[in-house]
Amino acid sequence: MVVFEITVLGANGGPTEYGTQCFILKPARTEDPELIAIDGGSGMHQLREMLVQGQHDNESYDEFVPSFYEHDREPIEFFIHPKLSIQKGLSKSLIQSLKRQEGHFESANITKQTFKVFQGITDYYITHPHLDHISGLVVNSPSIYEQENTKKKTIWGLSHTIEALQKHVFNDLIWPDLTAERSEKLKLKFLNSREVQKCTIFPWDVIPFKVHHGVGVRTGTPVYSTFYIFRDRKSKDCVIVCGDVEQDRRECGESLLEEFWSYVAENIPLAHLKGILVECSCPLSSKPEQLYGHLSPIYLIDELSSLNTLYNSSKGLSGLNVIVTHVKATPAKRDPRLTILEELRFLAEERNLGDLRISIALEGYTLFL
Ligand SMILES: [Zn+2]
Ligand SMILES: [Zn+2]
Repeated sequence: MVVFEITVLGANGGPTEYGTQCFILKPARTEDPELIAIDGGSGMHQLREMLVQGQHDNESYDEFVPSFYEHDREPIEFFIHPKLSIQKGLSKSLIQSLKRQEGHFESANITKQTFKVFQGITDYYITHPHLDHISGLVVNSPSIYEQENTKKKTIWGLSHTIEALQKHVFNDLIWPDLTAERSEKLKLKFLNSREVQKCTIFPWDVIPFKVHHGVGVRTGTPVYSTFYIFRDRKSKDCVIVCGDVEQDRRECGESLLEEFWSYVAENIPLAHLKGILVECSCPLSSKPEQLYGHLSPIYLIDELSSLNTLYNSSKGLSGLNVIVTHVKATPAKRDPRLTILEELRFLAEERNLGDLRISIALEGYTLFL
């Protein structure tokens, strides 16, 4: 049974500036056009693109995705595991609920529709304050003061995220401090690592975990990011959405990823783990000093092996969807997403992880988990 609908607004790990990380999530069966977002690297522009495409596509299915390496477009099956259920564009149930609840949605122009969909994103869960994870959200934020917009937005995050957004972004210098407006339409709110929080709009639990993401170039001190577990309280099904991450920095005396996987294995039966959206920014050939706080296939497979050991199932991690995001564009011959996918599949087999379903997160598509 499908529990989560996840639309990929952006999965790009830079250095190109377009379509950086942002996912929008909703329960599979809901009447309301409300959404939460994980990260805000992309936003209204991508929503508008998807609405335009929806107008022209109807049922016809575009089987090619933009690549710009060996060919400008490559067949979708190169990127997606055959058992992963996906659909191009925004989910049909979201569009249906908008048509039902907003009387004039269908007849409104694409820009009005874009504002309506965007208005439905009431909560952002940010993994860390790097620009590629917040730029869309920041630039889109004045739209909350549009007259027709009656909804508020809350930006959630661990202290490393919320403090940075307040001090360095919404500070009247880099961007107007919209959080200080009297109408209080934009709020910043703190989460605590490992603490279960009730999602305000869906019957879900949200559990954030602090993870390592490199060190400051100038300061040499650790940089942190966040993994989020979303758990449907009724079905107990979960999805994990990760921010940028690197392996544990043992020298800091913190085993953050190790603790995370232990929590997952102890609290989520494997059959209830519907998928993991996780970064794998760099190909196998990258040297450790070229990773800058990210994962390459060998490290991601190490992490999945740890999870596999903890679950200790005879079938390994068979059936688990691993969706890879944040691949960095490089001036290579081959699409690095395809290189990384091939390397991950090879290593997963070598390490006997079972029938893992590894795919690439594709911008402009909705995944059903
Ligand atoms: Zn980052
Ligand atoms: Zn990033």
